Amino acid sequence: MVAENIKTNSGRAELIDGAVVANKIKQEVKSEIAEMVDKLGVRPGLAAVRVGDDPASAVYVKNKIRACEEVGIRSEHHALPASITADQLLSLIQTLNTRDDIHGILVQLPLPKGIVESQIIEAVSPDKDVDGFHPMNVGKLAMGQQSFVPCTPAGIIELLDYNNIELRGTSACVVGRSQIVGRPMAQLLLQRDATVTICHSRTRDLAAVTREADVLIVAIGRIGLIRKQHIKPGATVIDVGMNKLTDPAQIQEMFGDQADSRLAVLAKRGYTLVGDVNPFEADQVAGKRTPVPGGVGLLTVAMLMKNTLMAAKRQIS
Ligand code: NAP
Repeated sequence: MVAENIKTNSGRAELIDGAVVANKIKQEVKSEIAEMVDKLGVRPGLAAVRVGDDPASAVYVKNKIRACEEVGIRSEHHALPASITADQLLSLIQTLNTRDDIHGILVQLPLPKGIVESQIIEAVSPDKDVDGFHPMNVGKLAMGQQSFVPCTPAGIIELLDYNNIELRGTSACVVGRSQIVGRPMAQLLLQRDATVTICHSRTRDLAAVTREADVLIVAIGRIGLIRKQHIKPGATVIDVGMNKLTDPAQIQEMFGDQADSRLAVLAKRGYTLVGDVNPFEADQVAGKRTPVPGGVGLLTVAMLMKNTLMAAKRQIS
């Protein structure tokens, strides 16, 4: 059994604080926007399009709108009924594409069944595609050209840089190959000269691969799947997962002697937010790790603000 051979570190892994980096980025964006408004009379504008009544999507969009207010981006929220047709949605996007006061467009995913997501993503102008999901931007990223980079992986790079985590020449492993996290993450690590491995649900011996990584980035949506046998001693572990946990026994297993505060959150809210990494076990092996919440999630919104500012700068230049 591999787990028995795992060396443990002497104490807890150092926590990487997402709030510090996210706030720094938002402050920088805010002061650039103030200058842009002052000197050019232009305020960046973001349109958020949400379809249907998925409660998680509503919360995500609300957080993005709140961040816009914080940094001085003018935002508008198009909350549309699930009954909207693809043609109606495409027509709204066409209008937003042509408006001079809208520099960025985000379509909150997932879209209701019946609407083909790829058709909607491709309808957004690549110049206003602040989520970086348009095939043109995906292709540019793959070619190492300047493009809009999806916010979560872009934020992870900021987090690694701010914490002086070496990437050049190191072994980096990304678990998950989604279009929004895993694949663009791997591209960005490659651009930084890491030696990159991508794992997914068909990877035969996941722990054998992840255990080789100096930097392990996990985006799978499986509660606490990454345990100590998956982690190289001293590695940096970035937990992208965002899952709701409602089982007290599982909370105990994931948080050990730190479980009480999570059980209190469970009692209050009916769930607690957890990642794809078991923090109690990761702390015994990893050198550094991001917490959930308080880690990667905060960067995603901050990078959306940064991408919207970048879109405005490009469109007015
Ligand atoms: P996704 O589209 O569902 O993709 C999940 C990926 O994980 C797939 O590539 C899948 O492999 C792989 N996978 C699933 N089970 C696995 C297993 N047992 N072993 C190895 N790989 C496995 O997910 P996503 O959109 O990338 O999101 C992943 C997680 O990150 C979710 O918890 C999501 O909520 C969270 N998230 C957080 C943020 C943030 O801002 N913090 C942003 C985006 C996503 P296959 O390709 O083979 O199916």
